[in-house]
Amino acid sequence: MIEFQHVFKSYGRSRNILADINFRVDAGEFVFVSGPSGAGKSTLLKLIGGLEPPSRGSIIVNNHRIDKMPNRARPYLRRAVGVILQDTHLLFDRSVMANVLLPLTVVGLEQSQAVARARAALEKVGLSGKEDLNPIEMSGGEQQRLAIARAIVNRPAILIADEPTANLDHDSATRIMDVFRDFNRVGVTTLIASHDTGLMAAYANRTLQITAGRFADFKGVMA
Ligand code: ADP
Ligand code: ADP
Repeated sequence: MIEFQHVFKSYGRSRNILADINFRVDAGEFVFVSGPSGAGKSTLLKLIGGLEPPSRGSIIVNNHRIDKMPNRARPYLRRAVGVILQDTHLLFDRSVMANVLLPLTVVGLEQSQAVARARAALEKVGLSGKEDLNPIEMSGGEQQRLAIARAIVNRPAILIADEPTANLDHDSATRIMDVFRDFNRVGVTTLIASHDTGLMAAYANRTLQITAGRFADFKGVMA
């Protein structure tokens, strides 16, 4: 589902953030990306989501080489990979429903179909009935679930999230992780970067750990 071969990444002329990264994630896995701040967790997720190009190496996502993907092929990746970044990029000048509809506008669905899909996405994250609110009226946990709804409305095969439980209380964090678990159970390959090892131990079954430029890959999560 995801394969990195000898991947290097630096920003501009700076040092390598990631150096010679090799791993494979199979369909249906639930992977925890761990490591201290600045280790390169976000960078790794952005490479998978095609939001940053690698400096060297080959990246295969959903059977497509994406490291040499021309810009016109990017919409494909947008549908294959649902991305939840630390800054959720929610739009506060429009409703919850409009936020979830946004990724569907490029797909060319009929409006009624698009609305039905957006409703289904909101239902899956427990936000039914909140369609007409402005996201600013929602709690942090609800905003995070809205970001998940927007990321999954195109039914991606892969879901990647960067610190989705940061700044949330334990109950809200658990609720977010339950949402990811439910998607994973229906086959969505899931990668989550987090500092919360204790929480991740209850969900992930594999860890990709980045520490001081070194990359470790092991089964399970050590709490
Ligand atoms: P993490 O998610 O583990 O905290 P990041 O991937 O965000 O790590 O960052 C890894 C390193 O890359 C940090 O030193 C960070 O300052 C640097 N970095 C991240 N994004 C950029 C960028 N757009 N331009 C330059 N440096 C960046
Ligand atoms: P920017 O212009 O901020 O560098 P992009 O134009 O690539 O970034 O993407 C804008 C925003 O769209 C991203 O920050 C992200 O929130 C969202 N986005 C990008 N790719 C995806 C994806 N595959 N799935 C869901 N949302 C995405």
